Amino acid sequence: MDQVKNYLLPPKAPREYGFFVDGRWHEGRDQFERLSPGHGVPVTRTAKCTPEDLNAAVVSARRAFEDRRWSGLSGAARGAVLLRVAEILRQRRDEIAYFETLENGKPIAQARGEIDHCIACFEVGAGAARLLHGDSYNSLGDGLFGMVLREPIGVVGLITPWNFPFLILCERVPFILASGCTMVVKPSEVTSATTLILAEVLAEAGLPDGVYNVITGSGRTIGQALTEHPDVDMLSFTGSTAVGRSCVHAAADSNFKKLGLELGGKNPIIVFADSDLEDAADGAAFGISFNTGQCCVSSSRLIVERSVAAEFEKLLAEKMARIRVGDPLDEATQVGAITTDQQNTTILDYIAKGKAEGAQLVAGGQAIDLGKGQYIAPTLFTGVSPDMAIARDEIFGPVLCSMSFDTIEQAIELANDTVYGLAASVWTKNIDKALTVTRRVRAGRFWVNTIMAGGPEMPLGGFKQSGWGREAGTYGVEEYTQVKSVHVEIGKRSHWIA
Ligand code: NAP
Repeated sequence: MDQVKNYLLPPKAPREYGFFVDGRWHEGRDQFERLSPGHGVPVTRTAKCTPEDLNAAVVSARRAFEDRRWSGLSGAARGAVLLRVAEILRQRRDEIAYFETLENGKPIAQARGEIDHCIACFEVGAGAARLLHGDSYNSLGDGLFGMVLREPIGVVGLITPWNFPFLILCERVPFILASGCTMVVKPSEVTSATTLILAEVLAEAGLPDGVYNVITGSGRTIGQALTEHPDVDMLSFTGSTAVGRSCVHAAADSNFKKLGLELGGKNPIIVFADSDLEDAADGAAFGISFNTGQCCVSSSRLIVERSVAAEFEKLLAEKMARIRVGDPLDEATQVGAITTDQQNTTILDYIAKGKAEGAQLVAGGQAIDLGKGQYIAPTLFTGVSPDMAIARDEIFGPVLCSMSFDTIEQAIELANDTVYGLAASVWTKNIDKALTVTRRVRAGRFWVNTIMAGGPEMPLGGFKQSGWGREAGTYGVEEYTQVKSVHVEIGKRSHWIA
């Protein structure tokens, strides 16, 4: 790694990766070259896998599952491997963060913080492996005893997006492993490096061959084939609602594989007049700008009490203008590059649409030219009405739309006026309002007087069109199990045939 004081440089040559199946590295026939979105230089080359490579990966995961080399171990033994993974990740933290930043464009300081979260995911997964258990029914009468066993579901396909390539991976892998399942992972083609590095880490930690397999390539080809594969028992998909819908069709048309879906969001942040407005403005600026707004849980709809709306929007616009947008490898950068050209165009198109729809631009609203890479200034629109495209569509960029309310009922109605239900945040010093809003707004993750806080102990997932199922924590482990009811007769059978 090239390093000048606190400033890292892009690599002189791209790092090359094969794909990982059955505990071994394989070379792809073709390669995909990734250019860093912050610098426009090649940083990695990864394999373009074929359907045959995918089949080999599924066969490997199936064999590893059926011979019980992983699921047959005690929870303690599985947990010990996961704890070793956490240790190795600690040692490789800076290297993994570096490649995450190079491929994704996120600030290096943020990437390092995300790796710390990933380490915690493995530690929580280790505990969860030991604590996983079923249930018993001692209430079926003296003649019958009931046990409920939790068994691993089998071979899991895992498809992850480019916005948090390692973090989203690590919010799933330890919990899938804790359950005893095996897996085939397909990261986004543009951000595959850290998923491949995890293969090295897992192998070094002692994970048996065939339990974690990685195939790389584009979503439309290899990703789609994974969703359709008849020998995959469950698919965990994180990405857009549109592709999530195609996963549902693929599951129905193949083998009815179980689905875990973590999809899009258009998340409300509700600010009451009685909140600490400085805190709420800081939270709102962070909630829309963190990871350049390319977060499924970005708070992209500001719903602010009308009596303080003008004051709050002014405060927020001032804060947003002070956010440091810059080279992702600069330690001081708070907001880095937009990850893909396509996403850059999408965001700029929505900003143009917001202006055309008549919303008032009070912060940002333009691309920032740093001489290389693609950057967009954190943007705030005021005077937005709920029917505008910028208020309805998931933009997946640093674009915040402000709307106002007069009563708590209006605030709840506006917050729920979306097909999504991923996350929400409410800011107030009044406990009655905080709890009423929390109960009535339909979202899978809720923050009161904070935003995007949490740990891997807590479950993640969405209501409505934001998805199915939950990831992380004990809920996340249970998601990858199925329940078997066992009935045990006690004593002499009472005969049916006299
Ligand atoms: P995407 O286009 O749906 O891609 C997500 C993943 O699916 C990538 O690995 C992609 O591979 C793959 N893929 C694409 N087309 C596929 C197909 N037909 N069949 C199977 N897999 C396919 O989404 P994105 O643009 O990467 O990510 C942005 C979206 O993800 C946003 O809507 C965001 O809200 C959502 N997201 C949700 C969460 C959550 O936890 N709820 C977290 C992060 C992101 P390639 O990239 O290689 O094509």
